[in-house]
Parts: sequence; C-alpha cells; structure tokens
Amino acid sequence: MNAHPHSLHAATNLWSLDTALRHLADRVRSEAGARDIYGDGGTLQAWRPRPDRNPTGGHADPIGDAVLGMTYRIDTPCADRYRAATATLCWLAIHTLGDLPAENRTPIQQLLHHIDMVPPQAAAEVARWAADEDRRIRELLHLDTGQQPIPGVTCPACSRVSLATSGINATSTVVVCTNDLCTCLGDICLCGMNIHADGARHIWTAAYVSTWKVAA
Ligand SMILES: [Zn+2]
Ligand SMILES: [Zn+2]
Repeated sequence: MNAHPHSLHAATNLWSLDTALRHLADRVRSEAGARDIYGDGGTLQAWRPRPDRNPTGGHADPIGDAVLGMTYRIDTPCADRYRAATATLCWLAIHTLGDLPAENRTPIQQLLHHIDMVPPQAAAEVARWAADEDRRIRELLHLDTGQQPIPGVTCPACSRVSLATSGINATSTVVVCTNDLCTCLGDICLCGMNIHADGARHIWTAAYVSTWKVAA
C-alpha cells in the first residue's frame, strides 16, 4: 500500500470511530429501552451522497436510522453525542465525497471506501474530525483507545518506544507513533514512511515494523 499518511490516519481514525459509534448506539438503545418499539435497532442504513440532498443530517435526514430516532425520545449525553456525531458524519461524507458513487454503505463505510481518492488535505480534515469525535465518545463511555502498544520496538523518527498498532479495516493494521511531539520533517525525515508529509503524525503500514530495531 502506498497511501498518503493523511489517508492512513483518516482510515484508522474512521475505523476506530466506527467501533466507538457501535458502542454508543448500544448505550443509546439500552437507555431508550425501546427495542420492541424500534424493530431492528440497527446502525445507519443505506446512504447516498447526492448533491441535492439536505446535508444537515438530523431528524429531517432520510438515513432511516432506528438509533437516531431513539435519540429524539431521550435526553442523555449519549443521545446528544450520537445525534451530533451522525449529523456531522453525514455532512462530512457529503462534502468530502461529493457525488462519488455509493452503494449500500453507511456514511462512515463510504468514507473508508473512498478515502484513498480524497485529496490529502481533505483526508487530513477527515482524520482530525474523526479523531476528535472518537476521543469524545470513548471518554463518554470510558472506552480505551483500541490501540495495541508494541513493546521493545523504537520509532525510527523519535527513537522512543512509543509505537502502537491500530486497525484500519477488518483485516489490516497500521503502526502509529503515539509521541505527540513526533511529526514528520518532510524530505529530510528519517521515518521511513512511504510518503513523507511535513507535520503529519508518523504512521506506517504494519509490514515495516519487522525491519526496525528492537530496543535494548
Ligand atoms: Zn516517533
Ligand atoms: Zn517523517
């Protein structure tokens, strides 16, 4: 894979957010106590990014989401968070993907599917929002980050034992440096990323790790 770092960050942050949203949906369903009222209780249904569609999300948005419907019947922080997250997610998907063809996918799946076609700077915006929303939801639910630390391996850029794996889809992981001060220096950087990106947090495809030095 030769993806841009911003695209890799967007994908891994969206993947993490997708997991967090599923937990949040479970909590909303539990709080609403309304399984019998709202049939399937599923997550976001089929969705298509059409320019003529109202991009505001929310109650008027025809995404057919049973959980979203529940959030209008209860007044809890989780319901508020779910409603805000899904509205922004729909807006972001529509404005990022334009009229790219959609199949039977949720907004988050659609963003994940097309993220490699999104210009790097737009991917960086998606990555930032997804990271912020993921953090807010995980704080609300007391969930951990989902990242798995890699012991004994140093980051080739900052030389700290600060690497962790993070999911990027159902079968693949990437490696990120969790040191907030470790960002890419561009062409002169020694990070070994496929594409150097000045200022980006370091991220690598998992295959690179096996070539790195094990810390003493
Ligand atoms: Zn580092
Ligand atoms: Zn770098």
